[in-house]
Amino acid sequence: MVGFSVNVQKGVAMGIDKSLLPEKIFEQYSTDLYHCASCNYCVDAVWPDRNINHVCVTLQHHEKNPSYSGRGFIEAARFLAEGNELDLASLAKRVFTCTGCGNCDTVCPIGLRPSEVGKALREWLSEEGLAPKEVVASRSKILSDGRAYAGSSIYSDIKYTEYAETDCEINYFPGCSSNENLLKTVQSDLKLMDLLRVKFRYLDPHDNCCGAVLKELGEEKESAVWAQDLFKEDQQSSRRNSLVVSGYECCNHLSNTTNREPVSLPRWILSRLLSKDSSTKLELRTKHSVRVNLLETCQLKKESQINRSNPSDEFLFREFLEGFDIIVLNEHYPSQHALCCGASGSMKAMQPTSASVMATDKLPTEEDVISITLDPRCALHYCKSANSSNAVMSFSTFICEYFSISD
Ligand code: SF4
Ligand code: SF4
Repeated sequence: MVGFSVNVQKGVAMGIDKSLLPEKIFEQYSTDLYHCASCNYCVDAVWPDRNINHVCVTLQHHEKNPSYSGRGFIEAARFLAEGNELDLASLAKRVFTCTGCGNCDTVCPIGLRPSEVGKALREWLSEEGLAPKEVVASRSKILSDGRAYAGSSIYSDIKYTEYAETDCEINYFPGCSSNENLLKTVQSDLKLMDLLRVKFRYLDPHDNCCGAVLKELGEEKESAVWAQDLFKEDQQSSRRNSLVVSGYECCNHLSNTTNREPVSLPRWILSRLLSKDSSTKLELRTKHSVRVNLLETCQLKKESQINRSNPSDEFLFREFLEGFDIIVLNEHYPSQHALCCGASGSMKAMQPTSASVMATDKLPTEEDVISITLDPRCALHYCKSANSSNAVMSFSTFICEYFSISD
């Protein structure tokens, strides 16, 4: 920790000469710390016209105290920056009881980044050895298992058409939440690519983890090493083809920590299906309309604004569904303000019961409604929380089960 002078605008907190907040956090987030209007949007906003129906899933389903919200993180950081002592173990408990969903950022009317402040606090407290014991245990388990989900590699159990490496269009990396046996998303991904005659190569027969979940738990450096290690033995051959990744947290992590440009599997498939040149024909297998409940992933939150020139994966999915007799029940999908399902960040490690309630609260009660999410990690969390492998379908499972595919 570094002592330094805070000299912010308009006489706010002028002349303070001792900060208990690391200088790098202050420098990066001083605007957020000193421009926050304490308007409480990020705490409990409800604004039907903007499709905002509460904001912070932690406050909604775990703890009502606003010190657990984005505003609470900003206030704690400012308090420390002004030289005030704070119980750091208690702060660590609060900032790690967060899904990192980013909803507080998307709702802030003046563009502040409370969730990023929370992330910076988590990283700092981790470096100081102050991460809560639940988080430390979760990290240790990942480090000893070598992956965040799925106990072991499933590569030797899976069947798919193998093509000569030089023939392949894509390298496929499932990510370990897709490998978890409960859902078998990876089997659906492979079946879908076989049905669409996509020539692909399984990037890593060891099914190593890319480290994305470690990063969410505050292990920044180790997580980057895991990501780079995926390509260590395969520098040349794997670079020739597009890297297509099933898990969104893996996709974002690999994009941020390696020199690859991964694309999500739903995006790659949907772009192909929606292309004017596509000769693939899909038909719904059912004779009656299909009613679907679409569940957003927080990993796409920052991309989910309407941008017709570069639509997000969830917009592409909705556009795709419009070509069929499918009734989308969520009028506003994809919503930038949808509450998190509890799968991400350190929430599950800190409060598994609350994380499960976050998921089950989003599921419909009607039996004839199919819930779908593009993110395999969210699908897995929903299914585990509801104790049913049919509670929510991943993208590829839905396409394989509900459509017949021909050329
Ligand atoms: S990132 Fe999500 S869970 Fe965390 S404080 Fe913000 S809204 Fe709440
Ligand atoms: S971070 Fe933004 S939304 Fe939250 S209290 Fe401050 S100004 Fe309001």
